[in-house]
Amino acid sequence: MGAEMKVVGVIGAGQMGAGIAQLAAVSGADVWILDKDVGALKNAKMSIYDSVQRFVSKGQLDKEVGNNAIARLQYTSNLEDLRSADIVIEAIVENEDVKKKLFAELDKIVKGSAILASNTSSISITRLATSTNRPHQVIGMHFMNPPPIMKLVEIIRGADTSDETFNATKKLAERFGKIVVCSKDYSGFIVNRILMPMINEAFHALYTGVATKEDIDAGMKLGTNQPMGPLQLADFIGLDVCLSIMKVLQAGLGDIKYAPCPLLVQYVDAGRLGKKRGIGVYNYR
Ligand code: NAD
Repeated sequence: MGAEMKVVGVIGAGQMGAGIAQLAAVSGADVWILDKDVGALKNAKMSIYDSVQRFVSKGQLDKEVGNNAIARLQYTSNLEDLRSADIVIEAIVENEDVKKKLFAELDKIVKGSAILASNTSSISITRLATSTNRPHQVIGMHFMNPPPIMKLVEIIRGADTSDETFNATKKLAERFGKIVVCSKDYSGFIVNRILMPMINEAFHALYTGVATKEDIDAGMKLGTNQPMGPLQLADFIGLDVCLSIMKVLQAGLGDIKYAPCPLLVQYVDAGRLGKKRGIGVYNYR
C-alpha cells in the first residue's frame, strides 16, 4: 500500500510539517501542505526551497529530483483540498482538543481508505482515534527534528490500529529514507519519555544554580557524547513544545517526577520559546 501512496497531505506548515512535506515530495508523492496561517505557508515554501537547494548543492539530491519535488508541493488553507490524500500527516499545535477537532473534520473529508497519522510528540493515538470513525486507520508517525535530516521515525500503534495501517505507514517512512521503531501508545512513547525528563532535569540544574547553562550543555555534550547539550536542544525543539510534553507525561504516567521545572514554565510564560522566537535559554538575536 505504501508504494501506492501517491498523494500525501500534511497539516501544519511549521518546523515539522514543512520538513515532512519536503520528504514526501522528494519521495515522489504529490503533496498538499495546509496551514491556517498564510504566513506559515509562505515561510514553509521558502524553507523547503532552501533545504532542497542545500541537499542538491551538497550532492545529496539529484537536481531534477529536487526541482520535481518542489513542483509537486501545493499550499493551501482549505481542508477540502486534502480530499484526494492517501495519507494525511498532522503536525499542528501539540494540543489534544485541537488535534481531535481536526481529525474529526478530516475523517469526514478524506476518502474511506485514507490513513490519518499524527506527528504528535506525546499525545495518545488511541484517544485521537476516538474522534474519528476509522480508529483502525489512525496511527502515530513521529518524526524527529529536523525531519529531512534525522534518520528516525517512531511509529505508534493505537489500541485499534490495524496491521495494514501499520505496514503501510512503515513502508512510507522507509520510502522517505527513514528507520522505523515501533512504540506502544503510552505517554511520550520511547524517545520523549526518556529525552524530556533529561531536558527538564537540565532546567532544574540551571534553576537551582548547579552550573551555568554553558557548563550544563558542555557537560552533557562532551560527557555523554551528544551532538548538543539538553538546554540548546530544548531551544531547538521549542520550549513550549517541551513544556506541553512534560504536562502530558505527568498526566499520562501519573508521577510527580514528570512535573515541569518552574524555570521552563517561566520561560514559556515570558515568550522565550527558543530558537524560533530568537530567544529561549540562549539569545539568538
Ligand atoms: P510549529 O509551531 O512550528 O508549527 C505548528 C503549525 O501548525 C503552525 O504553523 C500553526 O499555524 C499550525 N496550526 C496550528 N493549529 C492549526 C490548525 N488547527 N489547522 C491548521 N494549522 C494549524 O510546531 P512544530 O514544532 O512543527 O510541532 C508540530 C507538531 O509536531 C506538534 O504536535 C509537536 O509536538 C510535534 N513535534 C515537534 C517536534 C519539534 O522538535 N518541534 C518534534 C517532533 C514532533
